[in-house]
Order: sequence, then structure tokens, then C-alpha cells
Amino acid sequence: TVRVRFAPSPTGLFHVGSARSALQNWAFAQHSGGVFVLRIEDTDAARNRPEWIEGILSALEWIGISRGAYEGPYFQSANAAEHRAAAEKLHAGGSAYYCSCTREQVQERGGPQARGYDGFCRDRGLSAGPGRALRFRTPDEGATTVVDLIRGTPTFDNALLEDFVIARADASAVFLLANVVDDALMGITHVVRGEDHLSNTPKQQLLWQALGHTPPTWAHVPMVVNEKRQKLSKRRDKVALEQYRHEGYLAAAMSNYLMLLGWAPAGDREIVPWSVIADEFRIDQVNPSPAFFDEKKLRAFNGEYLRALPLDDFIDACQPWLTGTVPPLTLPDDVEAPAPVAPPWAPERFDAAVFAAVAPLAQTRIAVLSEIVANVDFLFLDTPPRDDAAWAKAMKPGAADLLDAAAAAYAEAAWDAETLKAALEAAGAERGLKLGKAQAPVRVAVTGRTVGLPLFESLEVLGRERTLERLRSARA
Ligand code: GLU
Repeated sequence: TVRVRFAPSPTGLFHVGSARSALQNWAFAQHSGGVFVLRIEDTDAARNRPEWIEGILSALEWIGISRGAYEGPYFQSANAAEHRAAAEKLHAGGSAYYCSCTREQVQERGGPQARGYDGFCRDRGLSAGPGRALRFRTPDEGATTVVDLIRGTPTFDNALLEDFVIARADASAVFLLANVVDDALMGITHVVRGEDHLSNTPKQQLLWQALGHTPPTWAHVPMVVNEKRQKLSKRRDKVALEQYRHEGYLAAAMSNYLMLLGWAPAGDREIVPWSVIADEFRIDQVNPSPAFFDEKKLRAFNGEYLRALPLDDFIDACQPWLTGTVPPLTLPDDVEAPAPVAPPWAPERFDAAVFAAVAPLAQTRIAVLSEIVANVDFLFLDTPPRDDAAWAKAMKPGAADLLDAAAAAYAEAAWDAETLKAALEAAGAERGLKLGKAQAPVRVAVTGRTVGLPLFESLEVLGRERTLERLRSARA
């Protein structure tokens, strides 16, 4: 049976590119009836932090890879003895040798053109000792061909593969070896991972063979890039899955979008439920070229997913943003913290029934959940937010007169959206204004904004008293 694995290192927030690889492994396992193994590669003690481990598990859970539905998590650090044994085996079999060269010595001998290690200690027969790393002896001739389901059969000239380090002087294995030993131990049949590891693959395949195992089938999924075709970087781009979650992207939209980076279901379909993806995803159909992570498109996806929610689910999904209970985002020191997401109104002012009355109007208008706040804040604040630019734009000459007329009409009118609309339409007509023009000052006076939910429904929910108060204070 197919056994795939996802092997993140807990070094920070969960990169959307990693999330995409995890999902591709997950879909591959699901449609092939295989097993998905989670292995936390936690051997870089200097860069790992335990809280990132929990972060990985909950990020995976959020996008639908739930605890209990996969094998693991295993921890690479638990396999240190196996890594050591593999290193010893390679040394004993002559595939690896101890090397006492320092980096400076290697550089001095090779000059600026040097391409990696020059093999100085290859045949010196050194034994283990302080300052001595263990290097793998790569073949001098021939080529290493790997089978990659996305890239065909990339072939690497062995003469260009340096004798690379597999264990440090303290006998701990480096990534290249630990990763192979773990994959072999866990019976991994297919290694699906990011393109950034392709250059490691010939070295790792040689290790598989030297350890006496049949190498896996590989699949290097394309890099995820920004609009300038640069690899997404955490300093420049918004790369963390947690940041998207925090802004109010839905997990289903996110996982659907991530799976479309380099792949699409047949036909013109893009927005499809996970069941369709699991059914139709084929790793060998993934496009090898870099995939553009288009936040605009993701937003559009998310809007579609929001609109497709049953109203009650939409209302539930908005709650954290409305009640100030969005879980805080723990960011590494080098990522700029997002603005706090607490709503601007006092918590006791939030009224679930009032929100429910406008929720259907908001559901068709927002693309991410955090936008709900700016759409409904006028209902829960004592006075509407004051935005001078909006104010200047809407309060043209004649606006005052119109606000007076609206206030006069609204003091008497039956309180329903249709009547309110007709009354403002009439007041506008008397002044030679179309409805759109007549609405603008009223909207700003009442909601503080130039755009928002449909105005008359908004007034209906806000109520006569508060509407009149705002129309009048806009005149003061
Ligand atoms: N820990 C490695 C990484 O996060 C795993 C690479 C692999 O999947 O083999 O990049």
C-alpha cells in the first residue's frame, strides 16, 4: 500500500506552501487508499520550539487533516539511535569516511570556484574523533536518475555530487541522512515534497541504496511564488496559514485554493468540495512550474464559500470577530504582528438579534470574516465611526438641507425599508437629486461610511430613534 508522509520542521508559523504539500500528500493518500504519516523533524534544537509543534498539529487540523486520521505524529528526535546506527553501517561498509577538514581548509584548497568538498580525506582511513564529520562517498562516475511523478526522470551527474556530510562530529545525523532513515523505517513508498528539496534527492537516493533499501518514488511539487515570481518569503509576503485563518478565511476555501496551485479538477471547475479533490487529484497531473499564490483569487474563493454557507453557519462563523474572541496569533519575532482584532464597540453593546437581522445582507458582501466588523459597527457603536474623507465626499453643498428633509420625513414615516426608501426618493426628487445622490449624505451620517450594507434595510434595523439622532447630529 501507498505510504506517504508529511515531515515539517517546527521552526515557525505554518507556511502556505507547506500546507499545500500536506494537502497534496493527504489527497494522494486518500484516493489511493494509502496511509498518511506525520513526522515532526525536530532535530534542529537551535531552531525548534515546542509551541510550533502544537501549531503544526492545529494548522493541519484546521485544513482538514485531523488528529487520529493519520499515523503519528512521530518525532525525528526519537530515532537518534537509528540514525547513528545507519551512519555506522555506512562507515563499516565503506560508503562513508571520517573527515577532519575544516570549512576554511576546504575553501583554501578549492579556491573561489570550488564546488563543495574536494575529497581530501576520502582515502586517509581516519577513525571517528573530535572534529571529524562523517561524509558519504558519492560515485565518481555515472549518473543518478530519480523517478519523479511530476518531473519525469531527472538525472544528476554523479561527478557533480560532492561527498556530503551525513553525521556531525558529535555523531548526530544531518537532515539528509535522518530524513532517509526515518522514511525507510516508516515504510514510505512516495516522497511528495517541495521542489526546494529536488537537489537533495540524488544524494538521498544514493543513501537509500547504500543502506540496502529500494528508494521511494519521488514527487517534487512546484514552488509557490508571489506576483513577481519570487518564492514566497516570510519577511516579504503573507505566508503563514495562521495569518489567513486569523483574517477570517474559511478552512474549506483555503484548502480548495491551495490544491489548485499547480493542479485543477477536470472541466472548468475550480470551487469543489474536498471529496471531489480527494477523488480526482492525481499527483502526476501536477504542473511542475512555479505556482502563483494569488491572494485576490483566494479572497474571491473565500467570498464564494461564505455565500454558500447556511445563514446560521455564517452567523456562527462571524462570532469570534463580533465578540472579540478571535484566538490571538503567536508570531515569531521577525514577522510583523497584525492589528488587534477586537471589535471597536463595548462587548455588552453587541446584540445577536440585531446582527441576525443584517447578517443575510452582510453575507453577500464580505470576502473574509474580519470584514464583518466594518459592515455592522454602526449598529453597536454609540456614534458612527468618523472618517473625515468619507464625510467630505458625501457632504456636498445641499447635503444639510437634504438631511433636514430626511429627518422630517423619518420622524413620521412607517419604519420599514420600502417606506424609508420612498421617502428619501421623494425628498431627493424635490431637490433634483437622484436616489443615489440623496442616499450618500444619509449613509455617512448614519453609518459613517460611503459604502456598506443596503441603506434602507440598515436604517430599519437601527431604528427610528437612533437614525433621527444621527441625522440631527450630522447637522450640528
Ligand atoms: N523537514 C523537511 C522540511 O520541512 C522535510 C523535507 C522532506 O519532506 O523530505 O523541509
